[in-house]
Amino acid sequence: ERAEWAQLVDAPSVSKDGKHFEIAANIGTPDDVADAVKQGADGVGLFRSEFLYMGSDHLPTEDEQFEAYKKAVVGMKGKPVVVRTLDIGGDKPLTYMPLPKEMNPFLGYRAIRISLHDPEKIFKPQLRALLRASEFGPISIMFPMIGTLAELRAAKKVYNECVEELQKDHPGIGKNVKIGMMIEVPLAAINADKMAEEVDFFSIGTNDLIQYNFAADRGNDSVSYLYQPLNPAFLGLIKHVIYAAHRHNTKAAMCGEMAGDELALPLLMGMGLDEYSMSASSILRTRNMMKDLDTKQCADLVEKALKLDTVEEVQDLVKKTLNLK
Ligand code: PEP
Ligand code: MG
Repeated sequence: ERAEWAQLVDAPSVSKDGKHFEIAANIGTPDDVADAVKQGADGVGLFRSEFLYMGSDHLPTEDEQFEAYKKAVVGMKGKPVVVRTLDIGGDKPLTYMPLPKEMNPFLGYRAIRISLHDPEKIFKPQLRALLRASEFGPISIMFPMIGTLAELRAAKKVYNECVEELQKDHPGIGKNVKIGMMIEVPLAAINADKMAEEVDFFSIGTNDLIQYNFAADRGNDSVSYLYQPLNPAFLGLIKHVIYAAHRHNTKAAMCGEMAGDELALPLLMGMGLDEYSMSASSILRTRNMMKDLDTKQCADLVEKALKLDTVEEVQDLVKKTLNLK
C-alpha cells in the first residue's frame, strides 16, 4: 500500500473526475520543509511560527525571523508557504515574555490579541520579516484567532503600514503576498461572508473551531468525546464557511486535524474545499484516496449527511460509502 502511495509523490492532487485540489503540509520549523517536499506536499498550508519563538531564549529579531522564513520558502522551491503570525498564549507559553495567569487561557490573551496590543513589539518585526522573505518565493500571511471584522481590519492596517515602510527601500515589496485568516473563532465562521470580502484566503482551524463550538477543551480527555468533526451541525458550519469564501472569490483551505481525517475527506471535497493542510505523513494517503473519489458523488454525500441527526449516523454513512468497516 505504501509503495503504491510513493508513486504519487510527484502526482497532482486530483479527484477521479479530474478536479484539482491542493494537499499541503503543516510545519513548525524551516527544518520540516525537507520532509514536506519528500512527502509530495503541494505547499505549506500552515507554518506555525510560534515554534520559532518557543524554541528561542529571547524574542526572535526581525533578521532571525527573516532567515527562518526565507529558508522555508526557498526550501519549498516555488511552492507556496502560508505562515501564520504568532499564536502564543492559550496552552503555549513563552519563558522570556511572561503573561499574566488566567482562569481561562484559551479564552484569554492570545494570538492576534497579543499581536495587536502593542504592534511595534512583536507584530511589526514579524510582518517585516515575512515581507522581506516574500522576495525569495511565494509567501502568504495568515492571522490566527480573528473573531471580529475590527480585529481583521486592525491586523491588515498594521500589515499595510509595514508594506509602506518597506517599499521605500524595496520597491514593489508585498505585491505577491496573499493575506488570509484562520477561521477558528465561531463568530468569524458565522460572519464568513463579510470576512471573505477582506481576505485572499481562509484557513479553517478545526482544532480550535471545534473546541469553541462544542465548548470542550481540546486537551481535556474527559470531554474528548465532544471532538466531533463529523457532527452534522458542525458540517453545516464548515459548508457555510466554504460557500461564503467562494461567493467572494476567496480560497478556502483547512489546516486543523480534520483536513487529514479520512472520513471527512469525501465530505470536504463535496463542499469544494480547495486546500487540505495536514501533517506531512498523511499527504500521500490523502492523495491516494482523493484520486478514487468523484466530486459530484461527494456533493450528494454532503446533502445526505447534513440531513442526519448525529455524528454516529454520519460516520456510518461515510464508512458505507467508502466501503470501510
Ligand atoms: C487549529 O486550531 O485547528 C489550528 C490549526 O491551529 P492550532 O492547532 O495551532 O491551534
Ligand atoms: Mg488554532
